[in-house]
Amino acid sequence: MHLFIKAKNIIDGVSDNILHDKVICIKDGIIKDIIDFNNFIPKPSEKIFNFEKETIMPGMTDVHVHLAYSGITNSRAFRAESVDMDYAAQALRGYSFACEHMSFGFTSLRDMNAPGNVAINIRDSINNGVLNGPNIRACGLGLSVTGGHMDQPGWGSHVNLEGMTHACDGPNEFRKGVRTQHKLGADFIKTNICVSSTYDIQNPYKQEMTDEEIQHVCEEAKMLNLKVASHTSGGRGITVAVKNGIHSVEHGHWLDDETIELMARNNTFYVPTLLVNERNFELSANELFRSSKNWKWLELSREAKWISLEKAIKAKINIAVGTDSGFMLPHGSMNYREMEYLIKGGLSNMQAIKSATQVGGKLLNLNVGTIEIGKQADILVVNGNPVEDIKILSDKKNIKVFKNGELISDHS
Ligand SMILES: [Zn+2]
Repeated sequence: MHLFIKAKNIIDGVSDNILHDKVICIKDGIIKDIIDFNNFIPKPSEKIFNFEKETIMPGMTDVHVHLAYSGITNSRAFRAESVDMDYAAQALRGYSFACEHMSFGFTSLRDMNAPGNVAINIRDSINNGVLNGPNIRACGLGLSVTGGHMDQPGWGSHVNLEGMTHACDGPNEFRKGVRTQHKLGADFIKTNICVSSTYDIQNPYKQEMTDEEIQHVCEEAKMLNLKVASHTSGGRGITVAVKNGIHSVEHGHWLDDETIELMARNNTFYVPTLLVNERNFELSANELFRSSKNWKWLELSREAKWISLEKAIKAKINIAVGTDSGFMLPHGSMNYREMEYLIKGGLSNMQAIKSATQVGGKLLNLNVGTIEIGKQADILVVNGNPVEDIKILSDKKNIKVFKNGELISDHS
């Protein structure tokens, strides 16, 4: 049976303007047609939703989340919760986080590192129909050098945390890392090329993977038809990675001109994750369990990232909305703030919405992100106009969610 959404106002994720007086025809979860009001002659038995005052828009994408983490801000508590809970419990909790994202209109997510195959299992349970939830892309574990960004030191030497990190050293181990995550069901490969050097203000970032390791990861991933995303901070490691064809640069506090130019040429996505940086300044050093040296780094990196964003906007790089939620941020409720910061950084409201829809859909390589014929019917009904006021998206009461053409979330 067809379902029809009759809408006065539509943000389709393609046009820069709001479209008016359209009917979206949906069947089997897919948008089959979009027609003008005037040409719409419904049959008596057909299901029609009529939205006069609301704005219809595509379901949004958060391309940088951590479903296995709760967003607790104290760094010690954050470490503890990874070992306090079984992976099964983390998966159950992660599923509820995924649903929380969805109730705020984020119908597609990309998980950027989850221990114990937690995010991959959530994804599979949704994809095979056991659970209802958002579209999920997951990388399994991020590949990191021993003692690197995602294989952090500081545990007792007797502690062995099975399945919590994936450390690789040397080109061959990184190749094996790519193959292993692929075998475990990864949709893409996450690497940690360079990291923040928060205790050395003179050199605020450092490369962790060698050029050769970066090259081998990219080559192997390409052979397996997987994209590569990388945690980055700054420096030539990013340049090397972009030259080797990585798909998205995450964080990228310090992006130099050469890298920006290469990213523009290679269509590399930029996921600045502004909110997670800014979040530090809403909390006290005590709450974060941070030292004053750390704080100086936070200020430096904050300043640098705004400059990187400005350069990326100027170079017309595809910028996607990624929050890092799970890490210092709750799931779902603050996502809209990433758009607020993108607007503060120079995007128009409509561009920021496109970052959270069309661009995100492309980055995830999913059939979502726009309201066009043939697309998955992940559609939001927003009580108001987010182009005029993005804050409307802060309250789930303002958002009805259609997932695959079915109304699944209505808090109004
Ligand atoms: Zn992250």
